Amino acid sequence: MSHDTLHIEPIKQALLQFMDQHIYPNEANYHAQLAALPNRFGTVPLMETLKEKARQAGLWNLWLPKDHGGLTNESYCELAEIMGRVLWSPEVFNCNAPDTGNMEVFLKYGTEAQQSEWLEPLLNGEIRSSYCMTEPDVASSDATNVRTSIVREGDSYVINGKKWFITNAPYERTKIFIVMGQSDPENPNRHLRQSQILIPKQTPGVTVVRPLTTLGYDDAPGGHAEVHFQDVRVPAENMLLGEGRGFEISQGRLGPGRIHHCMRLIGSAQRSLELACDRATKRETFGRKLAEHQSVLEDIAKSFCEIEQARLLTLKTACKMDAVGAKEARDLIAAAKITVPLMAQRVIDRCMQIHGAGGLTADYPMAEAFNYARWCRQADGPDQVHMMALGRQLVKRYTES
Ligand SMILES: Cc1cc2nc3c(=O)[nH]c(=O)nc-3n(C[C@H](O)[C@H](O)[C@H](O)COP(=O)(O)OP(=O)(O)OC[C@H]3O[C@@H](n4cnc5c(N)ncnc54)[C@H](O)[C@@H]3O)c2cc1C
Repeated sequence: MSHDTLHIEPIKQALLQFMDQHIYPNEANYHAQLAALPNRFGTVPLMETLKEKARQAGLWNLWLPKDHGGLTNESYCELAEIMGRVLWSPEVFNCNAPDTGNMEVFLKYGTEAQQSEWLEPLLNGEIRSSYCMTEPDVASSDATNVRTSIVREGDSYVINGKKWFITNAPYERTKIFIVMGQSDPENPNRHLRQSQILIPKQTPGVTVVRPLTTLGYDDAPGGHAEVHFQDVRVPAENMLLGEGRGFEISQGRLGPGRIHHCMRLIGSAQRSLELACDRATKRETFGRKLAEHQSVLEDIAKSFCEIEQARLLTLKTACKMDAVGAKEARDLIAAAKITVPLMAQRVIDRCMQIHGAGGLTADYPMAEAFNYARWCRQADGPDQVHMMALGRQLVKRYTES
């Protein structure tokens, strides 16, 4: 156990207590308030109340990296797992995707002016943000395919293109989009063709066309949407880092983001397992409790083993990121990204089954958690792309003398 891990014990205890006092007892209330909103992607009053309480308890921006005064990845692992037990809770602590990844972009690559305009309100939880890379018309798991155009005209850039699956785009609290597009389509180096630019959501020519669902869930109030940019004009100083450096930014952004999803998914799977164990002691079929049927016990045991394996891999990845940085740890980041969402999907599926028909309903958290695990196999790069990248790295490593 590292020094930092010992140091976070009080934070962990405070977080556990906060979950017991304010999150679990409010689960039904949160969903009721969300359902009652006049705008499906509006502000849930309870969220704002809880955010204030979390700030007062010192449980705020726990994701901040160590080199910016925050915690190590190793320490954050445990905290993110706890938050992952309730899908909407990370926002209470200002630790939700995609805002944490976007804040990291502003921290790493933003100018002073960009930081004061966008990073500060994001760190304060006053606004939300979106990261716009994926496009409906091209296979976006290869980011070099992205076609949205970013063209310099005098002191401005003009942006045209279509994006979809843009998380947070429909949310009324979202004010800023980080948009990836091509600024130099003819560059012979295909990794230097892209740039990333800041587009305030209210800019003329930006249209949030429609919210999208995954397996029927709209993930409100953040949501995921199709967004069109038509002759959108922004000042030249909205360019991030510099023309042609978009690919570099996306590589820097996705490493930590991927591992954060893994940490939360472990919490989601762990909670499902705990609920399944409880359920199995309360229902009886064919003369005995579910928990006394061999196959149910096997499902519980298998799930425990798989969660433990995934947790250790995620922790090892986090430790490697702390020791040598996300770039050098990309082998383990890929391994975790390939392994953990699939593990969570399998475990949560078994836990739904133990709950019978009820497990598939919104009366329990498993169905929504299953959707989260399933879409994490796609978001931040599909399983196959990470397998391709990891396989290539390993072949190279084990064949180079
Ligand atoms: C809920 C959700 C939220 C998301 N949030 C965001 C967001 O906020 N911002 C954003 O920009 N994007 C977001 N995405 C989009 C996500 O990043 C993309 O879906 C992903 O990058 C894949 O791109 P694509 O959908 O165009 O699939 P495609 O590129 O069309 O690929 C289709 C399939 O082909 C297979 N495939 C691809 N390459 C290979 C290969 N080399 N070998 C074998 N098989 C391969 C994979 O199975 C892949 O699923 C989100 C997605 C979801 C589901």
